[in-house]
Order: sequence, then C-alpha cells, then structure tokens
Amino acid sequence: MISARGARRWALGHPWVFRSDVVVPAPIDAGAVDVVDQRERPLGTALWSAASEISVRFVSRDPGLVLDRAWWEARLRSAVDRRSPILDAANHGKPDSNTNSDTNACRLVHGEGDGLPSLVVDRFDRWLVVQLLSAGLEAHRAVILEALQAVVPTDGILARNDASVRAREGLPRVIEPLVGTVPEGIEVREHGVRYLAAPHGGQKTGAFLDQREARVLVGTLARGRALDVFSYHGSFALHLARRAESVTAVDVSAAAIARAAENAALNGLTNIRGVEADAFEFLRAEEAAGARYDTIVLDPPAFAKNRGAIAGALRGYKEINLRAMRLLAPGGMLYTASCSYHVRKPEFLAMLEEAAADSGRRVILRGITGQPLDHPEVLTVPETGYLKGAVLEIQD
Ligand code: SAH
Repeated sequence: MISARGARRWALGHPWVFRSDVVVPAPIDAGAVDVVDQRERPLGTALWSAASEISVRFVSRDPGLVLDRAWWEARLRSAVDRRSPILDAANHGKPDSNTNSDTNACRLVHGEGDGLPSLVVDRFDRWLVVQLLSAGLEAHRAVILEALQAVVPTDGILARNDASVRAREGLPRVIEPLVGTVPEGIEVREHGVRYLAAPHGGQKTGAFLDQREARVLVGTLARGRALDVFSYHGSFALHLARRAESVTAVDVSAAAIARAAENAALNGLTNIRGVEADAFEFLRAEEAAGARYDTIVLDPPAFAKNRGAIAGALRGYKEINLRAMRLLAPGGMLYTASCSYHVRKPEFLAMLEEAAADSGRRVILRGITGQPLDHPEVLTVPETGYLKGAVLEIQD
C-alpha cells in the first residue's frame, strides 16, 4: 500500500515509489507485487525491493499480473522491435555478424526507457551483457534469462552486476557468466569502423554505445587537425580519422590509450596519436602553446555524480569548453557532450553560452544532440535521459 503522494507520482507517469511513500510494506523481500492506494484501490503491478530506497518500481497499470515467461518475452520483444531501425528488422535483433546493418552492437533494453525497470541488456555481436540493478528484478533472474534467450538467440550472456547501485539494493556486486562464455574482446562494427569492446573489464558494459550516433555525425563533419579528448579506447578518434588529416586522442588512462592504438591498427589508420594526459592540463598547455585545431570532441565522464556536485561540475564543463573554443581555428567544429544526469539540458546550454561569451569567439550552435534510438528517454521519467550534446562552429 502506498501513500497518495506515491500514487500521484505513478499517475503522472513515473514508475518509482520511494520508501517514504510506502504505507504498508509487501510481506516479501523482493519480487512482483500488487500495489494499492490507501483506499485499497488497485494501482498496478510492480517490482518490490525491501532493502532499497526505491521500494516500488511499477511495470504495469494492470493489477494482478503474473510475471511469467510469456510476460517477459512480450516486454523484451517490444524493446527489441524498438531497435529495428538499428538492427535489421528482418532478423529481429538476432545476433548475426553477417547482416548488412551498420552495426552489430546496440543497447537492447534501456531499463525504465523500455518499461523494464532496472534492466539493461547490451548486445555485442553474438553476445549479450546484462545488468540486473534491483532486488525486485533480480528475483526474476531465471525467467528473464529464459525469455531473453527466446527473443534473442545468443552465444553467451555475461552479467556486469558490478554497478554500485546493486549495493543499495542489498545485492552482491559481481561480474559473472550466466550463459555460455563471452570473449574478453568482441569486435564491434560501427558504421564503417571497427573497435574491440571489453565486456568483462571495460567501462560500462564494455563500450560507450550511447555515443554511437554522435560518433557517426561527428565523423561526417571532421577535417584538418582533430582532437578527441576523453577518448577512452578511441572510438570518436576512429571516426574522425577517416576524414581528418591527423587526430590526437587524449585520455588519463594508459590502458585506454593502449587500446585506442590497437583499435587504430585494427582499422589500418596511421593518423591517430595517443596522449596519456589529464584533459584539463592538456587543454591548458595547448592553449598556452598557441595550438590550433579544426575539429575537437569533448566527451568527459559524468562530472556531477549527485545534486551537490552540480556547481563544481558546471565549472569543470565550462573550463574545458572554453579552452576548446579558444583552440579552434576559424570555421572549426566542436562536439561537446555531458552524460551527467544531474546537469540537465538547459543548464548544459547555459554553460556553453557562458563559455562562448568568455572565449571572445563567435560561436554558432549548429545542432543539439541527445540519446540515440536505442537509449529511449521517457518524458515523464527524467532518469532515463542523461546524455546531451551540442555541435558548435567557431565562426571567427
Ligand atoms: N569518448 C569515449 C568515452 C569516454 S568515457 C567513447 O565514445 O567511447 C570518459 C573517459 O574519460 C574515460 O576513458 C576516462 O578514462 C577519461 N577521463 C576521466 N577523467 C579524465 C581526465 N581528467 N583527463 C583525461 N581523461 C579522463
């Protein structure tokens, strides 16, 4: 049973109910429950996590649902169908490295964005990487895996259940094979470039799939001397290098830069130079040296991990963007992104306006980007949206 406030939140389209809005807890630790309001009116079926601050995650307005294999299959199938523009609709998302689609990797399930709260499924070629991020979901693990294999035939499934939110659900943080074996490196095809995803030890589930569309866009705009800052394993750099004369890929992680070099070799690209450096120091030094670039990408990690960090994060974002604007030659292009959920799109754009004002340059907003098709953002569930970006042109 939940409070009027909790019920209202759900009526407005948000599936989460916090512990403070639970009036009578469910008699189980975790699993599917029927939720009612204080007048015993049915509100729907939800996943229950007794240990979590987010106690209830609604999955349907229908009460009394049995979350059996058929139910999970139907939800998973509609999530996979939503990706049909990316993964050849004809093969229904079936892992098959011989299709003609532009890529063999994408997110198949984006949690609440697909009506499957706290479930993430990423496909890398013939393998899947999953994250079960709540106790209520974890309770259905076996049936979810059965349903998933029925919807997406696969050679192996790996659980990247090492995310810190698992601890808040009272769940262990582990990386473990669930079905078959998943290779250490999987070759991803992405609109004409190839790179190795690292599902076991890499960041996220092995690669940053959420920037795929931005990488393709930026690849078509790149020219001259290019700079890819916060490069990770060089995935923007690879797209830039197809059109630009030279690309400098900067990351603070030596392992990331080593993998960027491997990925450049995999594509036969010889115009990418890796630099292991702190981005702030690198940009400051380049500015002091009077360096000039024609194309710059800024794809930093989330600077604001919580609300309290927003002001500091905005200062960090402004500093790197200001320096990038100053480093660009007239006519140069900057693609800049933020994946901090807590920094919303208006604050991000306001930060760019301030950086432009301070830069002394005339900066044109050529486009605003968001999440790709496989990371659906539900308008009434802000947590499903975190990534935003802008394409800027330096006029003079
Ligand atoms: N652009 C990449 C994803 C970048 S993720 C892609 O599309 O695949 C952010 C990267 O920033 C990580 O690889 C991390 O190692 C790096 N990073 C974090 N802090 C940094 C810093 N201060 N300077 C340089 N790199 C940093």
